[in-house]
Amino acid sequence: MSKRIFQAMMAVTLTTLVVCMVLFVAILFPYFETQLSNELMNELAYLVPNVEQEGVGYLEQLPQGQNRLTLIDADGTVLFDSKSDPARMENHADRQEVQQAMASGTGQSSRYSETLAKKTINCAMRLSDGQVLRISSTQYSSMALLVSLTQPLFLVLIFAALIAVTIAYKLSQRLTKPLNEIDLEHPHVNQAPYEELKPLLRRLHHQNHQIKEQIQQLQAQKRQFTAITDNMREGFLVLDADGLVLSYNSSATRLLQPEKPLDGHNIRDLTDQPDFLEGLRSAQEGEHVECLVPLHGRVCQLLANPVYQESTLTGIVLVLLDVTEQQQREGLRREFSANVSHELKTPLTSIAGIAEIMKNGMIDPADVPHFAGKIYDESQRLIQLVRDIIRISQLDENNVPDTPVPVELKECAARTLARLESAAEAAHVTLRLEGGEATIQAVPAILNEMVYNLCENAVKYNRPGGSVTVTVRSDASHAILQVADTGIGIAPEHQSRVFERFYRVDKSHSKEIGGTGLGLSIVKHGAAFHHAQVELESALGKGTTIRLIFPKHAAL
Ligand code: ADP
Repeated sequence: MSKRIFQAMMAVTLTTLVVCMVLFVAILFPYFETQLSNELMNELAYLVPNVEQEGVGYLEQLPQGQNRLTLIDADGTVLFDSKSDPARMENHADRQEVQQAMASGTGQSSRYSETLAKKTINCAMRLSDGQVLRISSTQYSSMALLVSLTQPLFLVLIFAALIAVTIAYKLSQRLTKPLNEIDLEHPHVNQAPYEELKPLLRRLHHQNHQIKEQIQQLQAQKRQFTAITDNMREGFLVLDADGLVLSYNSSATRLLQPEKPLDGHNIRDLTDQPDFLEGLRSAQEGEHVECLVPLHGRVCQLLANPVYQESTLTGIVLVLLDVTEQQQREGLRREFSANVSHELKTPLTSIAGIAEIMKNGMIDPADVPHFAGKIYDESQRLIQLVRDIIRISQLDENNVPDTPVPVELKECAARTLARLESAAEAAHVTLRLEGGEATIQAVPAILNEMVYNLCENAVKYNRPGGSVTVTVRSDASHAILQVADTGIGIAPEHQSRVFERFYRVDKSHSKEIGGTGLGLSIVKHGAAFHHAQVELESALGKGTTIRLIFPKHAAL
């Protein structure tokens, strides 16, 4: 700004200087000319009486001066000339000043020389005898004067320009200094260095106030938005039409796990997942997209919505829902339904087959008890299966009808072993109960079933002469129930799978001995319901130990 002020000042100063000089010369020259004419007239007035008295002789004895004196007769003949021979001079009757003098007593004219560099001023006065005395003086023309003054004028101009530069510089600095010192962050009318700036500062102050308020509003909105979106489990991204990330929440980072921060990057540079990119491309083409996308071992549902403003695509909103568990649950449910149907079908087919044979009278009456026994076994199997399925569903849905109560683990184990006594005897397996008492919060129906399943398996998968030892222990924070057998054991590759629904190591053997394949699955779900841990140790051919570790003070 000070540069502009400086330039403006210099321009004004130099223009004024040049114009002044030209005007000075233009005005001064006519002034000098008038002065000169007056002086010449005065000189004539002084000479005329002398010439009237003494005639030409007076003029001849005058010393040669700068001015030219000419005496002209009434008919225009030159009688005397101080610079030329009058005899060789032409008639002057037609000269303007002479004609004027003859007519009115005085006359005046001026003529430029051929080069225009000089100008001759003539003044004439009529004598009493009709002759005319003329005096002429030559001066430089205004143009010549200007030219001759060029050098001094130029020097003056330079000098004046130097002074102007200094003053203009200082003034521009002085003018702009208070402007630079205005605190634009907190402008106040009282700070205005010039009266004219007061409205501007007032407006600035008002606008600053407005901007501050708007920024605060925006920040509050952003905080609100971040608080809401960051608490969402769903990943949320706002992209511009090209895919540049404008906004996102922490769940989006968690699900996408980009190598670079999401901020200011194009989403295409952050993931190369083909389904995700395909969904994005469709959204960029204006489609609403819903698809499943595998992301870093998780399954996400991608919802992509194009955003339009006046029918122009301006952005895309992406929502990522982690549906891994849902997918897994659905998969398990499908598998479970298929397994249940299969498991139910086998005993039902068997019952239907026997019943058909009996209906057709194809059975010897002596064999009826045998077949009726088979129908009884199969229906018992069915009942057990349905009971197990109901229990699993309850635990799955976390929909257990009973409320937890304090249960003494050793008593529970003793009751279970008592129930299994005859089965153990038949299998030639010895049952033992060891350890001390330990009370936990539990739902008795579920706990009984868990302990029964473990002990029943320990008997079922045992060998004649083997044993089952149930031990109850407790420490300050845990109560432990351990069922150890000396049975066939579980091979390492099956150990992690025996808790799956309907998983059996030896399917035919398990079915033979009345297993549903749901026993350990109920143990696993029941343990989760009681916040207990399940540990399994097993060696093929040596036996299996399964431990339930209950926390003593868990709220169910
Ligand atoms: P099932 O009704 O077939 O016994 P479970 O879920 O109780 O089903 O057990 C799953 C499988 O784990 C069984 O089929 C069996 O092969 C194996 N299993 C369970 N407990 C034992 C054990 N104590 N010793 C050896 N194998 C076992």
